[in-house]
Amino acid sequence: MSQSQSRYIRQIAFYGVGSEGQKKLLDSTVAIVGIGALGTVLANILCRAGIGQLLLIDRDYVEFSNLHRQIIFTENDAIKRIPKSIAAREFLLKVNSEISIEPIITELNSGNISPILKNVNLILDAVDNWETRFLLNEWSVKNNIPWIYSAAIGSQGMTMNFRYNNSNCPCLRCFIPADQPQSQQPTCASAGILATTTGTIASIQASEAIKIILNSPTIRDGLLSIDLWNNHFKNIKINRDPDCPVCSHKIYEYLSQNIGMKVQKLCGKNSIQITPESQTKLNLESFAASLVNVGSVEANQYILNFKNDEFQLALFQDGRAIIENAKDEIHAKSIYNEFIGLR
Ligand SMILES: [Zn+2]
Repeated sequence: MSQSQSRYIRQIAFYGVGSEGQKKLLDSTVAIVGIGALGTVLANILCRAGIGQLLLIDRDYVEFSNLHRQIIFTENDAIKRIPKSIAAREFLLKVNSEISIEPIITELNSGNISPILKNVNLILDAVDNWETRFLLNEWSVKNNIPWIYSAAIGSQGMTMNFRYNNSNCPCLRCFIPADQPQSQQPTCASAGILATTTGTIASIQASEAIKIILNSPTIRDGLLSIDLWNNHFKNIKINRDPDCPVCSHKIYEYLSQNIGMKVQKLCGKNSIQITPESQTKLNLESFAASLVNVGSVEANQYILNFKNDEFQLALFQDGRAIIENAKDEIHAKSIYNEFIGLR
């Protein structure tokens, strides 16, 4: 038996997988949205498990504060501020070079979600904000693609499977209202986070992902809530809301949103993200030439890092910028207009 054939042998030996199951895993396409604490664990497990096509979608770059829990990144990735999906691909290809791993450096929005997710069999939510989750929920209801929600903070975590081909299955909006006040909720920066919380939740999410792909009779129902510090494990039954705007009335508020220029404070960081209205693909190495006289700048094909006495900025190919140390959103927007100038 060749090395390559023996790669999955212990997994094939497990009664729930077998060689037919392994073939299904290799034939499947899974999108991981958010390559942070949850996403790195998911990507690590699913790459080794032989998911044939992995899409790694993330908007951010690696920082030192990520390293205690984002298990596939290194100090070098943080020093160089490598985009997370690129650093993840580089690491994972050393583990399994026989699958396809596509890095996508962007934030999902109503304009790009369909082209990015059009061929996926399953979506794994590993993001840190409700807006993207509501967008994923609507897209999945509309296209009848399963997804798995997950979230973690401190020692607490939650995860739930959503499969709309099961007519009794609720969607996220059946029990979470759309007006979640993001700014009043604790974040990983304010409440902290244990690596074991994200590791546990993402491992459960990865098991459910494999079960969903294999159409196992043991796919979990309900919302699993855990608290590792206080020893709580609870599965909560959630009913479908017959008056839900999304799965009952098919009103897709987030999918029909105009994109426009978007200014957002990022969860748990002293950073503001600016997304221009127009779709673009920048040549970052040429763009860097326009900034050499106003601060220190370094660029490769994926990210441009700029710094002056006042602020630090990361610019991506899609025209998005993450600005650190801006005073507020208005200040961040004026920095963007002055230094980047895309509409
Ligand atoms: Zn619903």
